[in-house]
Amino acid sequence: MAPTAPTVALAHGASMPLLGLGTWPMDDAEAERVVAEAIGLGYRLVDTAENYANERGVGKGLKASGVAREDLFVTTKFNRQWHGVELAAEACERSLDRLGLDYLDLLLIHWPNPKHGKYVEAWQGLARLLDTGRVKAIGTSNFKPAHLDRIIESTGVVPDVNQIQLSPFTTRSEARAYHAEKGIVTQSWSPIGGQGAQVREHPAVLELAEKYDRTPVQIILRWHLDLGLATVPKSSDPERLAQNLAVFDFTLTPEDRQAISALDQGEAAAADSDDFGH
Ligand code: NAP
Repeated sequence: MAPTAPTVALAHGASMPLLGLGTWPMDDAEAERVVAEAIGLGYRLVDTAENYANERGVGKGLKASGVAREDLFVTTKFNRQWHGVELAAEACERSLDRLGLDYLDLLLIHWPNPKHGKYVEAWQGLARLLDTGRVKAIGTSNFKPAHLDRIIESTGVVPDVNQIQLSPFTTRSEARAYHAEKGIVTQSWSPIGGQGAQVREHPAVLELAEKYDRTPVQIILRWHLDLGLATVPKSSDPERLAQNLAVFDFTLTPEDRQAISALDQGEAAAADSDDFGH
């Protein structure tokens, strides 16, 4: 049987695989194919979003996989237009409908959009959804500590997960420390640097790939896991999908982990969620 990723316990009781499949920028047809393939390889978490416009394809891929719903973990996210108490519930129903599911494992506010000024209401809406059984866990994406402070202070409800841009080039140490203090799981997006290959070709990464007899991407994914992070690398290629999941049988030494962390280019290397969002 294909190996699956270990899980992490979330604040509201769910268990989330530490590594899952990212699906941006797949369209419906590609998502259907890749999701089914990835699950066949052992993936159990699939990360999508309203904004990716591929939830229908993801849903078809989940069904085609033949794996029982309770053994899968499905994350989606909603856009600014649904920032409101009732609106968040509507966003959830619409995503469920497109995915063909009757519950989500994790629903995220995709971006805080502070200039729109409604992310606290969106969070209140998500907190209510927890009691309906339509979501098992709730969270945020691209929230800075200041945004998280506001939603926690106004509701007393802590997100299960904050999904943020995080790679060796942008290590987000302040956010990680804040999440750890609050019991929020950090999930890295663009964990291997996104579509640009620079971080995957950095000499420090290549050196460790040779030392551990692993691919550069496996070294980077192991660095995330060794930092206690969850992550959702995207690939549409069966061989790379399999490689990216085969990272649970080794660890980096603290010195080697530090050598990767030293590639950090600071917060400026990440998208600024006070300015950007949808
Ligand atoms: P990523 O996972 O860091 O990188 C994906 C790129 O790496 C693709 O071009 C992929 O190409 C390539 N790749 C994958 N495995 C590889 C390997 N083993 N060797 C060499 N190249 C490899 O970046 P991402 O897709 O931006 O982020 C991951 C996921 O995070 C997304 O898919 C999405 O689900 C989520 N995300 C969330 C947000 C948010 O705001 N919350 C924003 C962006 C992304 P191939 O497909 O050809 O392998």
